[in-house]
Amino acid sequence: MSYQTIALPSSSVGSQTYLGVHRFGPSGGKKVYLQAGLHADEYPGLLVAQHLIGHLAQLEQQHLLRAEIVVVPFANPIGLRQRTFGHVTGRCDWHTGQNFNRGMALDSAELIQTLAPNLSEDGAHNSRLLRTAMLQQVAQRTGQMEIATLHQTLLGLSIDADLVIDLHCDDVALPHLFYAHHQPEIGLQLACSLGYDICLEEDVRGTVAFDGSHTQPWVLVQAEFPDHPFASPCFAATIELRGRTDVSTELAQQDSQGIVHFLAGQGLIAASDYQPPACTPQQHGVDQVSLILASHSGLVTYKRALGEWLAADDLIAEIVLLDQPIPQTIEVRSPSAGRLFSQTNHFFSAPGQVIAMVATREAQNQPGTQLAY
Ligand SMILES: [Zn+2]
Repeated sequence: MSYQTIALPSSSVGSQTYLGVHRFGPSGGKKVYLQAGLHADEYPGLLVAQHLIGHLAQLEQQHLLRAEIVVVPFANPIGLRQRTFGHVTGRCDWHTGQNFNRGMALDSAELIQTLAPNLSEDGAHNSRLLRTAMLQQVAQRTGQMEIATLHQTLLGLSIDADLVIDLHCDDVALPHLFYAHHQPEIGLQLACSLGYDICLEEDVRGTVAFDGSHTQPWVLVQAEFPDHPFASPCFAATIELRGRTDVSTELAQQDSQGIVHFLAGQGLIAASDYQPPACTPQQHGVDQVSLILASHSGLVTYKRALGEWLAADDLIAEIVLLDQPIPQTIEVRSPSAGRLFSQTNHFFSAPGQVIAMVATREAQNQPGTQLAY
């Protein structure tokens, strides 16, 4: 067990930010990386990470860890200090406007070029080569903006991991997961360990977030070299820990225990009493999520509760207009049957704003499209 701080390059005279990095378990074998708060104003993950650190410290004392587990409990100190009139606005970087959870993808074409002359029939060898090439590419990044150095530092800690978990939350939502659609089995194991029943499976060949930045190179490199095996590709997931206000000891304890169960199920924590939970989560492609948009500026009032099953054309919400001679409301209806799993907590809408999400069985978006900007 160790705790290290890594100073980020100072962006302004007299100020300094740093990351805290906890390491547990034996290094040199399998590696797990978990971080919280890359969107700095999403607090449930920050609390889950603290509970997880407590669990892992105990498990290490009991000599039960079978992998190196790296935990970065606040992945975005830049966003955490972006406080305006009392509110932390930590989703996007004030300096560049960039979403902190975008723009990290590796250059897979360069990785393919690097690997081409050195691949063999040995999957473990090929995987080692890819992990080494990814680490080198991250180390050679040249961006000097503060957000670029943050991303470089985080990827330097995570890009060679076997398992990557990024903790986020939605506005108001049922708990759900994102992971790459080519790894449904392990995604289901994670969902069942957490007791979540909504899995969103993503085509990672398009725009990717932090999780997809780790799985995309494996997908693109393997597609380029179909005759060469790659052992132990990275699995990465984003866990959406319900909504912003779901910050509680009980939930954090439950979620951190779920992550420990998942790691036990992967053989990375020795737990003789571990039983894989039986469950049947709903699996949806990310492209099957219907984004319900506001058509007008006004106040949103919901007519259906989170978690309800909707039929096509069911009334979800109304937008109360504020600028009409007599009071008027606009109906917002579901375009497809599905389950309402996300609502906004920004009740004053703007046209085009996402005010709800419904998990459906029909294609709603182009594959590879991100649900949020
Ligand atoms: Zn987020």
